[in-house]
Parts: sequence; C-alpha cells; structure tokens
Amino acid sequence: MLSLREWDIPFDELKMGEPIGTGRFGTVYRGNWHGDVAIKVLNMDHLDDEKTLEAFKIEVTTFRKTRHENLVLFMGACMKLPRLAIVTSMCKGMTLYTHIHLRKDKFSMHKTTNVAQQISQGMGYLHARGIVHKDLKSKNIFLENGKVVITDFGLFSVTKLCYGNRKGDGLSIPPGWLCYLSPEIICSLTANQKYQEEELPFTQSSDVYAFGTVWYELLCGDWPFKGQPPEAIIWQVGKGMKQSLANLQASRDVKDILMLCWTFKPSDRPDFATVLKSLERLPKKRLARSPSHPIHLSRSAES
Ligand code: ATP
Repeated sequence: MLSLREWDIPFDELKMGEPIGTGRFGTVYRGNWHGDVAIKVLNMDHLDDEKTLEAFKIEVTTFRKTRHENLVLFMGACMKLPRLAIVTSMCKGMTLYTHIHLRKDKFSMHKTTNVAQQISQGMGYLHARGIVHKDLKSKNIFLENGKVVITDFGLFSVTKLCYGNRKGDGLSIPPGWLCYLSPEIICSLTANQKYQEEELPFTQSSDVYAFGTVWYELLCGDWPFKGQPPEAIIWQVGKGMKQSLANLQASRDVKDILMLCWTFKPSDRPDFATVLKSLERLPKKRLARSPSHPIHLSRSAES
C-alpha cells in the first residue's frame, strides 16, 4: 500500500470555481487551495474499485517527483473514490493550440526555436525521471509570457481507466489526436480495436514523435496530414509515410529535426537531449524573411 498522505488533499478543502473546460477524461475547474489552482476532476462515475485507486496512486507518485520550470506544478491529488482529482498550479497564458490554430499567431523563427527548446528541456527532464508523457500535444503546452509550461503528463493511463468500460464502436479516435501518434502506436491501435483496455506502446520515443508534430505545428501553423480522413492518416503513418515537407520554407537543419523525430523505428529517434542540441545549433537569425510571416507553406499546400 502506498503512503501518500501529504498529497491526499481532502476534497472539502478545495474551493471549486467555474469550469474551464472539459476534455476526454474529465473537467478542469478553476479553484483555490492556498492560492489559484486548476483542479482536474476525473470522470469516474462507473468505477469504484480499489484497483483503479491503486493505479491512480501509482501515477500520482510519479507527478510528485517533478520539479522543473517548464512543467506545471503538481500540488496534490484528491484520492477518495468516487472523487479523483489532480490539483496543479493555474496556467496563466494560452496553449500553443490556441496560439497556432485558433488565433493563427505567427511566431518568428527565433521564438519558434526557443519554444521548442523549452519543450525539449521539460520533456528531457520528465524522461530522466522515468516519466513518459503519453499525450504531448499543442493543447497541453501553455505559453506564459514566453515561458513554456507542459501539462497533463503521465495522466493517460489513469484516464484510460475511466474510459475503458465505455462500449466500443470500433476505433473512436478523438480529432486532432491521431497526428501525434507514432507508427508503433497506430499499428497497435489498428491491430486491437478494443485498445482502451490494452496498454498502448507509449515510450520516450513515442513522446519524441509527438514532439515532432508540435515542431511541425510551430513551423507550419497547421497539423500534418491536414484535411485527410483518419483512415488515410492511419494507413500512411502505419506504412512509414510522412507528411511532405516540400512546401515548408525552412532550412535543411530545421526539416532534419522533424524527420528525425518522425523516424519510423522508435529506437532510431533521437532523445530530447539530442533534439535540444540540434535546436541550439540552428542559426539565430535568418536572412531575407518577412518578419510578420517568417515561415509559411506555399499556397498550394494550404489549399
Ligand atoms: P484532451 O482531453 O483531449 O486532453 P483538453 O486538453 O482540452 O483535451 P483537459 O486537459 O481536460 O482537456 O483541459 C480542459 C481545459 O482546461 C482546457 O481548455 C485546458 O487548456 C484547461 N487547463 C488544463 N489544465 C490547466 C491548467 N493547469 N491551468 C489552466 N488551464 C488548464
């Protein structure tokens, strides 16, 4: 039995504010617990067994080990069934998803590289601690006054448990999730349609693949395989095909990082320390660029 007293925040001590948003696995509320916090309450309506609680506690022990300026501050958890909640610091800025896809903000190459470096630093730290993020995506990366804050790490297995008993209707893949999944995960999804109940092969290398997609989003302002149906994406990724970079106007070094992160064979992908080194080597200033729209896809690629 794990001893987690110090992280066991009594639900009554949390002042719940209004909901911020609902994701696949629960709702995040604004809240107060010795200051502003974000409270992620997991959907556990149908689960009240000890096994789930133990799985949750094991995940929580991994969060308490995290102290890094690019990772959201884990403050504690409520672990009394049916109330399971994760309490973290409140992120003040906007997610990269909001910047890139909703506001269509354009970042300079310098800022793009800087953001990618901070992500690599936070992820490198997580991996050094033996934690696999499993859900790295632009929605889980906040930008607070230029500082990157990564959220939602390691939660996927727990949240999967809340999800597992759902009646499956074949592959139910949330939109916008597919392009972060590495070929080995895609293959295991398609091999086993009841994937929620099985462990998907998430590894440090699959996190690096997901980072590649975030790097692409930062560079292009869009997702890879944009506009293609899930079946087409699954087929291509499973076969080792990648989004073409022919229309991406960026240097060879920039594209190389992308292609390395998206390498088909997990063991051939670089680790985050290597990614960071490559990012640090990129030239800081680029010639002949429009400052307002420094990197872009050509018209033909956007249509
Ligand atoms: P998915 O379930 O696919 O991961 P999601 O990321 O939108 O989707 P949640 O992680 O549940 O779902 O987040 C719900 C909302 O709460 C999002 O708008 C997210 O940006 C916001 N949010 C999550 N954590 C924090 C935090 N620590 N500070 C501020 N806002 C947060």
